[in-house]
Amino acid sequence: MEQIVRILDIHNVTHNVKQFIVEKPDGFTFTPGQATELSINQPAWENQKNPFTFTCLTGEHFLEFTIKIYSDHPGVTNHLGELEVGDELILREAWGAIEYKGPGYFIAGGAGITPFIAILRNLHQQGAIGDNKLFFSNKTDQDIILADELKSMLGENALFTITNQKDSVHDQRRINEDFLKAEIKDFSKHFYVCGPDPMVQEITGILEKLGAKADALVFEK
Ligand SMILES: Cc1cc2nc3c(=O)[nH]c(=O)nc-3n(C[C@H](O)[C@H](O)[C@H](O)COP(=O)(O)OP(=O)(O)OC[C@H]3O[C@@H](n4cnc5c(N)ncnc54)[C@H](O)[C@@H]3O)c2cc1C
Repeated sequence: MEQIVRILDIHNVTHNVKQFIVEKPDGFTFTPGQATELSINQPAWENQKNPFTFTCLTGEHFLEFTIKIYSDHPGVTNHLGELEVGDELILREAWGAIEYKGPGYFIAGGAGITPFIAILRNLHQQGAIGDNKLFFSNKTDQDIILADELKSMLGENALFTITNQKDSVHDQRRINEDFLKAEIKDFSKHFYVCGPDPMVQEITGILEKLGAKADALVFEK
């Protein structure tokens, strides 16, 4: 099912990530962590379907997407970055790769944080964030999506690691075996992993070796 929705607001979240607030059709539902295939409702773009994750609370009267813009080639996100309020997208049904199954560890790289934004916001709203822990890896401090909000929801349980900035104010360890052995106290909890393919492959391999069952989602191309 396809529905045309108007963009209501666009704002920058980081230097290369934008949030798009769009109309929510009556009766449209999704589960936190789910994505949809979006298209831009313009000739030449309407058949290009790319997956993006809902990042808003399920109860909002709008939908929100948090999208990393690749402006180095004329793909879909580059064109999304050129859109304006009032432009239209084609929305399709929500489908799920990841959902909250219980307390545990969220491990994200870059724009792989988006399903966790939806899950953590909804848990926070329900007062159910508990002792869930987030490890969020980025290249530089300025790449961290919604750093302040993640800190305010999770406090000390949000740990940012920065891999390519020597003067970062954050932890500078890579999320590797030593990191996971040091930081994970309970391997029987849930593990949610989302980010670029090589990162997800590496981390899920280590987690399995250490005795965990990872609910992995390979995310960025
Ligand atoms: C289930 C799911 C949910 C997702 N949710 C989100 C989300 O919420 N937010 C989000 O930001 N992303 C999300 N993604 C990833 C998103 O779908 C892709 O980043 C997006 O579709 C890329 O589209 P594109 O046409 O702009 O880039 P593509 O052409 O697909 O290129 C993507 C990558 O390849 C490189 N590349 C490709 N061709 C060239 C070229 N000619 N020159 C230079 N570089 C090139 C780009 O730099 C970039 O690294 C999700 C993916 C999945 C599978």
